[in-house]
Amino acid sequence: MTKTLKGRISMVYFCLVLVIAMVGMVSVFNLYKLSNSINGLMTANYKSIKAVNNMIEYIEKQDHAVLTYIRVDNENGINTFIQNQRFFLDAFDVERHNITELGEADLVRQLNTSYMDYVRSFAELQEIKHRAGAVGAYNFYTADIQSKFKLIKSLLKKLVDLNEAAIFHSEDLVTKNTQKAMNFILYLSLIAVSGGFAAARFFINRFLKPVDQLKETVKLIKAGDLNRQAEVFYADEIGGLASEFNAMTKRLLQYEQSTIGKLMAEKKKSEAIVRSISDPLVVLDTNCRFLLLNEAAERFFELDEQWALDKHFLEVLHNAELFEHIVGALNSDDDDRQKMVRITANEKEYYFNVIVKPVKNHDAAENNIIVLFQNITQIKHLEKIKTDFIATVSHEFKTPLTSIIMGISLLQDEKIGTLNQEQAKTLVTIKEDSDSLSNLVNDLLELSRIESDQAIFKMQPCSVPGLVANSVKRFLDQAARNEINLYYEVEEDLPKVNADPEKIAWVLNNLINNALKYTNAGDEICVSALVRHHQMWVSVKDTGIGIPAEYQTKIFEKFVQVRSYDLEIRGTGLGLAIAKEIIEAHGGQIWYKSELDAGSTFTFILPLIEESTNEESLNRR
Ligand code: ADP
Repeated sequence: MTKTLKGRISMVYFCLVLVIAMVGMVSVFNLYKLSNSINGLMTANYKSIKAVNNMIEYIEKQDHAVLTYIRVDNENGINTFIQNQRFFLDAFDVERHNITELGEADLVRQLNTSYMDYVRSFAELQEIKHRAGAVGAYNFYTADIQSKFKLIKSLLKKLVDLNEAAIFHSEDLVTKNTQKAMNFILYLSLIAVSGGFAAARFFINRFLKPVDQLKETVKLIKAGDLNRQAEVFYADEIGGLASEFNAMTKRLLQYEQSTIGKLMAEKKKSEAIVRSISDPLVVLDTNCRFLLLNEAAERFFELDEQWALDKHFLEVLHNAELFEHIVGALNSDDDDRQKMVRITANEKEYYFNVIVKPVKNHDAAENNIIVLFQNITQIKHLEKIKTDFIATVSHEFKTPLTSIIMGISLLQDEKIGTLNQEQAKTLVTIKEDSDSLSNLVNDLLELSRIESDQAIFKMQPCSVPGLVANSVKRFLDQAARNEINLYYEVEEDLPKVNADPEKIAWVLNNLINNALKYTNAGDEICVSALVRHHQMWVSVKDTGIGIPAEYQTKIFEKFVQVRSYDLEIRGTGLGLAIAKEIIEAHGGQIWYKSELDAGSTFTFILPLIEESTNEESLNRR
């Protein structure tokens, strides 16, 4: 038996072709046999009928010759008789050797006897004609020869009938045989077709069984069962494929085992790193359930990791603010978000910079959230010391500075004596520097108050157009002196905002003051107020010198000033930092857009009164 699948399929195909060929051959053989038997039957009977018909013709001619001989012509009648006798005997000879039917031999024998008798009677008739003339001969003819002639004819007729009957019978036989042959071919074909189909199905199923098995094994392996081996049924092409497949699975298993080992080692390493981080760190799943807590987190929150695992964040830490921050970070577009959070533990206050980092897997779906609690309590503490120090120093500076400035005013007013030109000039410089110092001290005090939680915001419904109008009015003279067109545009019927009017006025004044400082004669400053997206938008736009792009991110930081500006117009570098603190304390935002030599626009937004808190005052942080 051939070993390859191709060979086996060819073998089945060859067997089917063989069966079809056999059916064909048997059919042809049957038809051939049938046709032969028909031919045999028909030919023999027709031959007899033809010979008998010839004999009838010749005997009739002989009878006619007898009558001719009796009436007139002796010679001619005898010759014709003898000639036809020869023909008759030839035909008789054919019939005698072609006996096919039952009773035919007997008839042939009777015919032979009767004909011989008839021929003898003609010889006797010739003698009678010699003796008794034509009348005697005719009498003999009617009395003897005529009856013999009729007997011969009736025998010949019987022979014809017998052979004709045989032909009819043969026709019947042929029809029956044809029917038989057709039935035989039909049954044979049916057996061949159904047998061939069943055999082909059987063998195809048998040949394809390994393919089905292989398919099942592939499915199981795909589902992760790498220990599964495909069964090798035959050493054919499919068997070869199954062996190769098994080898591949083995390699995959080895690879997986080695990869898993490596991955486990890597995982342990990463976990060790995470656990050794000195700041608290937790890992949550997307449903905010704990997946990991490092030792610092366990220590700080006084938790046991095993207990906390798989529990919801709120169930473990009960800190709604923190939870909101984490959820907010998850829903935000930013990759990571930070927020300073104050947490009280063991009756002590801690400050943490909470960094939330959603971790995405390879198809960009979030699967884990890392929350790192960066402990900034120490930094906060140092900041407080610094703020307190600045506040104390500023405060200590403020009183002597006030008396210095007052003293300068007294001297300049020449209430305590006249000054020469040189002294007056020196006093102007001292006055300018004292004013600068006083501004710096005021700004520092303001900033330290805001930063040290001491700033009390007196929140109340206030009208922004009124604040804008007042601030602009305050600077109109200065603007006119500098030949700058200062004006404001406010939308009609603006709603009120919940704010501390003094602080917002401080911000506005600072922005307008800056705009005046950094514009030249002929420039414009426009202060506008309008409502957009349910918020109050206030802008101070100037056509001044603008701010270089590199200051974009840091202009709101403390002591940041653009270096290239003329020293004459420099301030303290604290105004925008304070403005930012104030606006953010109101729940708003501040930013700017600027183009060098084209101007700057500083904008801040404040929530409208419906959305802001109704409390009379709000203690920041
Ligand atoms: P200062 O007291 O120095 O004005 P601010 O914090 O108010 O401090 O401003 C910081 C710096 O930002 C300024 O020193 C100036 O360089 C720049 N600045 C602020 N406003 C403008 C403006 N309208 N046009 C150009 N530069 C400005």
